[in-house]
Amino acid sequence: MSNLETTPVERDIVRPGGGSRLLEARDVPLGGVRGMTVRRTLPARELPLIGAWCFLDEMGPEPAGMTVLPHPHIGLQTVTWPLSGEIRHRDALGSDVVLRPGELNIMTSGRGIAHSEVTAPGVLLHGLQLWVALPAEAAADGSLFEQHRSLPVFTAPGVRGVVFVGELGAVRSTATVFSPLVGAELTVAAGGTVLPLRADFEYGVLVVDGAVEVDGRAVEPGPLLYLPPGLSALDVSSREGAQLVLLGGEPFPDELVMWWNFVGRSHEEIVAARDDWEAGDARFGPVSGHGSARIPAPPLPPLRLTPRRRR
Ligand code: MN
Repeated sequence: MSNLETTPVERDIVRPGGGSRLLEARDVPLGGVRGMTVRRTLPARELPLIGAWCFLDEMGPEPAGMTVLPHPHIGLQTVTWPLSGEIRHRDALGSDVVLRPGELNIMTSGRGIAHSEVTAPGVLLHGLQLWVALPAEAAADGSLFEQHRSLPVFTAPGVRGVVFVGELGAVRSTATVFSPLVGAELTVAAGGTVLPLRADFEYGVLVVDGAVEVDGRAVEPGPLLYLPPGLSALDVSSREGAQLVLLGGEPFPDELVMWWNFVGRSHEEIVAARDDWEAGDARFGPVSGHGSARIPAPPLPPLRLTPRRRR
Protein backbone atom coordinates (compact mmCIF):
# COMPACT_ATOMS: atom_id res chain seq x y z
CA MET A 1 0.00 0.00 0.00
CA SER A 2 1.25 3.42 -0.94
CA ASN A 3 -0.34 6.34 0.80
CA LEU A 4 -1.37 9.12 -1.59
CA GLU A 5 -3.06 11.12 1.12
CA THR A 6 -0.40 13.69 1.91
CA THR A 7 -2.81 16.38 3.05
CA PRO A 8 -5.57 14.38 4.71
CA VAL A 9 -9.06 15.74 5.04
CA GLU A 10 -9.80 14.65 8.55
CA ARG A 11 -13.44 14.50 9.47
CA ASP A 12 -13.85 11.51 11.73
CA ILE A 13 -16.76 11.89 14.07
CA VAL A 14 -16.35 11.28 17.77
CA ARG A 15 -19.24 10.31 19.95
CA PRO A 16 -17.98 10.29 23.53
CA GLY A 17 -19.46 8.09 26.23
CA GLY A 18 -18.52 4.98 28.15
CA GLY A 19 -14.86 5.61 27.43
CA SER A 20 -15.21 4.24 23.90
CA ARG A 21 -15.25 6.32 20.74
CA LEU A 22 -16.44 5.54 17.24
CA LEU A 23 -13.92 6.70 14.62
CA GLU A 24 -15.65 7.19 11.28
CA ALA A 25 -13.91 5.91 8.15
CA ARG A 26 -13.01 8.36 5.40
CA ASP A 27 -12.84 7.41 1.73
CA VAL A 28 -9.35 7.78 0.28
CA PRO A 29 -8.54 7.20 -3.42
CA LEU A 30 -5.41 5.07 -3.87
CA GLY A 31 -4.75 6.54 -7.32
CA GLY A 32 -2.91 4.75 -10.10
CA VAL A 33 -4.14 3.29 -13.35
CA ARG A 34 -6.66 0.97 -11.75
CA GLY A 35 -7.07 2.93 -8.59
CA MET A 36 -9.59 1.97 -6.00
CA THR A 37 -10.97 3.78 -3.00
CA VAL A 38 -10.24 2.52 0.48
CA ARG A 39 -11.83 3.29 3.84
CA ARG A 40 -9.28 4.73 6.28
CA THR A 41 -9.86 4.80 10.03
CA LEU A 42 -6.28 5.30 11.29
CA PRO A 43 -4.69 7.69 11.80
CA ALA A 44 -7.76 9.50 13.12
CA ARG A 45 -7.73 13.23 13.72
CA GLU A 46 -7.62 13.04 17.49
CA LEU A 47 -6.10 9.58 17.78
CA PRO A 48 -2.97 8.86 15.71
CA LEU A 49 -2.40 5.32 16.99
CA ILE A 50 -3.98 2.42 18.85
CA GLY A 51 -1.05 0.73 20.55
CA ALA A 52 1.60 0.75 17.80
CA TRP A 53 -1.08 0.47 15.06
CA CYS A 54 -0.77 3.74 13.14
CA PHE A 55 -2.57 3.08 9.86
CA LEU A 56 -5.67 1.09 8.88
CA ASP A 57 -7.14 0.89 5.40
CA GLU A 58 -9.98 -1.44 4.47
CA MET A 59 -10.14 -2.15 0.74
CA GLY A 60 -13.18 -3.63 -1.02
CA PRO A 61 -15.04 -5.85 -1.30
CA GLU A 62 -14.60 -4.78 -4.91
CA PRO A 63 -13.77 -6.71 -8.09
CA ALA A 64 -11.15 -4.11 -9.02
CA GLY A 65 -7.56 -4.94 -9.75
CA MET A 66 -4.96 -3.00 -7.81
CA THR A 67 -1.46 -2.19 -9.02
CA VAL A 68 0.70 -0.42 -6.48
CA LEU A 69 4.10 0.14 -8.10
CA PRO A 70 7.36 0.08 -6.10
CA HIS A 71 7.34 2.61 -3.29
CA PRO A 72 9.36 3.09 -0.09
CA HIS A 73 8.69 2.76 3.62
CA ILE A 74 10.61 3.69 6.76
CA GLY A 75 9.88 3.32 10.47
CA LEU A 76 7.02 0.84 10.22
CA GLN A 77 5.84 -2.69 9.57
CA THR A 78 3.24 -3.30 6.87
CA VAL A 79 0.68 -5.92 7.87
CA THR A 80 -1.42 -7.21 4.99
CA TRP A 81 -4.48 -9.29 5.83
CA PRO A 82 -6.70 -10.28 2.89
CA LEU A 83 -10.28 -11.39 3.56
CA SER A 84 -10.86 -12.40 -0.07
CA GLY A 85 -8.77 -12.30 -3.25
CA GLU A 86 -5.02 -12.60 -3.73
CA ILE A 87 -2.18 -10.10 -3.56
CA ARG A 88 1.26 -10.56 -5.15
CA HIS A 89 3.99 -8.93 -3.05
CA ARG A 90 7.51 -8.19 -4.30
CA ASP A 91 10.17 -6.31 -2.36
CA ALA A 92 13.77 -5.18 -2.39
CA LEU A 93 14.85 -8.19 -0.31
CA GLY A 94 13.94 -10.38 -3.30
CA SER A 95 10.64 -11.61 -1.88
CA ASP A 96 8.02 -12.56 -4.50
CA VAL A 97 4.99 -14.21 -2.94
CA VAL A 98 1.24 -14.48 -3.41
CA LEU A 99 -0.85 -13.83 -0.31
CA ARG A 100 -4.25 -15.47 0.24
CA PRO A 101 -6.94 -15.19 2.93
CA GLY A 102 -5.87 -16.73 6.23
CA GLU A 103 -2.23 -15.87 5.51
CA LEU A 104 -0.19 -12.91 6.75
CA ASN A 105 2.39 -10.74 5.05
CA ILE A 106 4.41 -8.67 7.51
CA MET A 107 7.23 -6.48 6.22
CA THR A 108 9.53 -4.64 8.59
CA SER A 109 10.94 -1.58 6.85
CA GLY A 110 13.58 -0.71 9.42
CA ARG A 111 15.38 2.33 8.00
CA GLY A 112 14.22 1.59 4.47
CA ILE A 113 12.69 -0.87 2.03
CA ALA A 114 10.67 -0.74 -1.19
CA HIS A 115 7.87 -3.05 -2.29
CA SER A 116 5.04 -3.48 -4.80
CA GLU A 117 1.59 -5.02 -4.53
CA VAL A 118 -0.50 -6.28 -7.44
CA THR A 119 -3.90 -7.96 -7.55
CA ALA A 120 -5.58 -9.62 -10.53
CA PRO A 121 -8.45 -7.66 -12.10
CA GLY A 122 -11.87 -9.24 -11.87
CA VAL A 123 -11.16 -11.01 -8.59
CA LEU A 124 -13.18 -9.85 -5.59
CA LEU A 125 -10.70 -8.12 -3.32
CA HIS A 126 -11.43 -7.43 0.32
CA GLY A 127 -8.76 -6.92 2.91
CA LEU A 128 -6.91 -4.81 5.40
CA GLN A 129 -3.64 -2.93 5.06
CA LEU A 130 -2.21 -1.94 8.40
CA TRP A 131 0.97 -0.29 9.58
CA VAL A 132 2.66 -0.85 12.91
CA ALA A 133 5.00 1.92 14.12
CA LEU A 134 8.47 0.65 15.05
CA PRO A 135 10.27 1.63 18.26
CA ALA A 136 13.27 3.90 17.51
CA GLU A 137 15.82 1.09 17.74
CA ALA A 138 13.99 -1.16 15.23
CA ALA A 139 13.31 1.85 12.98
CA ALA A 140 17.08 2.38 12.69
CA ASP A 141 17.75 -1.31 11.95
CA GLY A 142 17.52 -3.50 8.86
CA SER A 143 14.49 -4.69 6.93
CA LEU A 144 12.73 -8.05 7.10
CA PHE A 145 9.91 -9.80 5.27
CA GLU A 146 7.85 -12.72 6.57
CA GLN A 147 4.91 -14.62 5.16
CA HIS A 148 3.01 -16.74 7.70
CA ARG A 149 0.75 -19.39 6.22
CA SER A 150 -0.03 -21.17 9.47
CA LEU A 151 -1.29 -18.97 12.24
CA PRO A 152 -2.52 -19.90 15.72
CA VAL A 153 -6.25 -20.39 16.24
CA PHE A 154 -8.10 -18.67 19.06
CA THR A 155 -11.28 -20.33 20.35
CA ALA A 156 -13.58 -19.55 23.26
CA PRO A 157 -17.34 -19.97 23.79
CA GLY A 158 -19.07 -18.07 20.97
CA VAL A 159 -15.92 -17.14 19.05
CA ARG A 160 -13.28 -18.63 16.80
CA GLY A 161 -10.52 -16.93 14.87
CA VAL A 162 -6.87 -16.39 14.08
CA VAL A 163 -4.29 -14.33 15.92
CA PHE A 164 -2.18 -12.92 13.08
CA VAL A 165 0.17 -10.79 15.20
CA GLY A 166 0.83 -10.50 18.91
CA GLU A 167 -1.26 -12.19 21.55
CA LEU A 168 -4.88 -12.74 22.54
CA GLY A 169 -5.45 -14.60 25.79
CA ALA A 170 -2.89 -17.41 25.79
CA VAL A 171 -2.65 -17.55 21.99
CA ARG A 172 0.40 -15.94 20.44
CA SER A 173 1.35 -15.42 16.78
CA THR A 174 4.91 -16.23 15.70
CA ALA A 175 5.10 -13.11 13.50
CA THR A 176 7.97 -10.79 14.46
CA VAL A 177 6.77 -7.70 16.32
CA PHE A 178 8.62 -5.06 18.32
CA SER A 179 6.07 -3.93 20.90
CA PRO A 180 3.27 -5.64 22.89
CA LEU A 181 0.21 -5.74 20.62
CA VAL A 182 -2.51 -7.88 19.07
CA GLY A 183 -4.16 -8.28 15.68
CA ALA A 184 -6.81 -10.99 15.37
CA GLU A 185 -9.61 -11.86 12.94
CA LEU A 186 -12.53 -13.30 14.86
CA THR A 187 -15.86 -14.84 13.92
CA VAL A 188 -18.40 -14.20 16.65
CA ALA A 189 -21.34 -16.63 16.83
CA ALA A 190 -24.96 -15.50 17.04
CA GLY A 191 -25.55 -14.45 20.63
CA GLY A 192 -22.06 -13.06 21.15
CA THR A 193 -18.98 -13.77 23.24
CA VAL A 194 -16.60 -12.38 25.83
CA LEU A 195 -13.03 -11.69 24.72
CA PRO A 196 -10.04 -11.68 27.08
CA LEU A 197 -8.33 -8.29 27.07
CA ARG A 198 -5.21 -6.89 28.72
CA ALA A 199 -5.96 -3.92 30.96
CA ASP A 200 -2.69 -2.25 29.91
CA PHE A 201 -3.70 -2.37 26.21
CA GLU A 202 -5.95 0.00 24.29
CA TYR A 203 -8.05 -1.65 21.56
CA GLY A 204 -9.85 -1.08 18.29
CA VAL A 205 -12.72 -3.16 16.90
CA LEU A 206 -13.41 -3.15 13.14
CA VAL A 207 -16.47 -5.09 12.01
CA VAL A 208 -15.96 -6.49 8.50
CA ASP A 209 -19.23 -8.43 8.22
CA GLY A 210 -22.44 -8.44 10.26
CA ALA A 211 -23.00 -6.26 13.31
CA VAL A 212 -22.10 -6.27 16.99
CA GLU A 213 -22.90 -4.27 20.09
CA VAL A 214 -19.97 -3.26 22.30
CA ASP A 215 -20.04 -0.86 25.26
CA GLY A 216 -23.63 0.02 24.41
CA ARG A 217 -22.76 0.97 20.83
CA ALA A 218 -23.95 -0.67 17.63
CA VAL A 219 -20.92 -1.27 15.41
CA GLU A 220 -21.27 -2.18 11.73
CA PRO A 221 -18.76 -2.30 8.84
CA GLY A 222 -17.05 1.06 8.27
CA PRO A 223 -16.04 2.82 11.47
CA LEU A 224 -13.44 1.71 14.04
CA LEU A 225 -14.49 1.45 17.67
CA TYR A 226 -11.77 2.67 20.05
CA LEU A 227 -11.56 1.29 23.60
CA PRO A 228 -9.15 2.95 26.06
CA PRO A 229 -6.97 0.92 28.47
CA GLY A 230 -8.49 -0.54 31.62
CA LEU A 231 -10.62 -3.40 30.30
CA SER A 232 -9.72 -7.00 31.18
CA ALA A 233 -12.61 -8.48 29.19
CA LEU A 234 -14.86 -7.31 26.37
CA ASP A 235 -18.52 -8.21 26.11
CA VAL A 236 -19.39 -8.52 22.42
CA SER A 237 -23.04 -9.16 21.68
CA SER A 238 -24.33 -9.99 18.22
CA ARG A 239 -27.82 -11.07 17.22
CA GLU A 240 -26.84 -12.91 14.05
CA GLY A 241 -23.08 -13.24 14.42
CA ALA A 242 -20.29 -11.15 12.92
CA GLN A 243 -16.76 -11.15 11.58
CA LEU A 244 -14.46 -8.59 13.16
CA VAL A 245 -10.83 -7.61 13.51
CA LEU A 246 -9.51 -6.82 16.98
CA LEU A 247 -6.45 -4.55 17.18
CA GLY A 248 -4.71 -3.51 20.35
CA GLY A 249 -1.49 -2.74 22.12
CA GLU A 250 0.30 -0.82 24.82
CA PRO A 251 -0.14 2.90 24.18
CA PHE A 252 2.85 3.87 22.02
CA PRO A 253 5.23 6.12 23.98
CA ASP A 254 6.76 8.14 21.11
CA GLU A 255 5.26 11.04 19.18
CA LEU A 256 5.55 10.28 15.48
CA VAL A 257 5.84 12.32 12.32
CA MET A 258 3.86 10.56 9.58
CA TRP A 259 4.06 11.68 5.97
CA TRP A 260 3.33 9.70 2.79
CA ASN A 261 4.75 6.21 3.36
CA PHE A 262 7.12 7.22 6.12
CA VAL A 263 6.93 7.08 9.90
CA GLY A 264 9.66 9.05 11.66
CA ARG A 265 10.46 11.17 14.65
CA SER A 266 11.42 14.46 13.02
CA HIS A 267 10.85 16.63 9.96
CA GLU A 268 14.49 16.14 8.96
CA GLU A 269 14.23 12.35 9.07
CA ILE A 270 11.24 12.40 6.69
CA VAL A 271 12.89 14.87 4.30
CA ALA A 272 16.05 12.72 4.18
CA ALA A 273 14.00 9.60 3.37
CA ARG A 274 12.14 11.45 0.62
CA ASP A 275 15.41 12.73 -0.86
CA ASP A 276 16.92 9.23 -0.78
CA TRP A 277 13.90 7.72 -2.56
CA GLU A 278 13.91 10.42 -5.23
CA ALA A 279 17.67 9.92 -5.75
CA GLY A 280 17.30 6.14 -6.16
CA ASP A 281 19.49 5.58 -3.11
CA ALA A 282 20.43 1.98 -2.24
CA ARG A 283 18.78 2.51 1.16
CA PHE A 284 15.50 1.33 -0.38
CA GLY A 285 16.77 -1.03 -3.06
CA PRO A 286 15.21 -2.03 -6.37
CA VAL A 287 12.06 -4.16 -6.68
CA SER A 288 12.46 -6.48 -9.66
CA GLY A 289 9.77 -7.03 -12.27
CA HIS A 290 8.65 -3.45 -12.80
CA GLY A 291 11.38 -2.05 -15.03
CA SER A 292 11.98 1.57 -14.09
CA ALA A 293 8.37 2.10 -12.97
CA ARG A 294 7.98 3.38 -9.43
CA ILE A 295 5.84 5.79 -7.46
CA PRO A 296 7.53 9.18 -7.13
CA ALA A 297 7.32 10.97 -3.81
CA PRO A 298 4.78 13.77 -3.72
CA PRO A 299 6.05 17.30 -3.02
CA LEU A 300 6.59 18.17 0.60
CA PRO A 301 4.10 20.61 2.07
CA PRO A 302 5.50 24.14 2.57
CA LEU A 303 5.80 23.77 6.33
CA ARG A 304 7.62 21.79 8.97
CA LEU A 305 6.10 18.37 9.53
CA THR A 306 5.05 17.98 13.16
CA PRO A 307 4.14 14.96 15.25
CA ARG A 308 0.54 13.82 15.39
CA ARG A 309 -0.81 14.08 18.91
CA ARG A 310 -3.71 12.65 20.79
CA ARG A 311 -6.47 15.12 21.54
MN1 MN B 1 3.35 -0.11 0.95
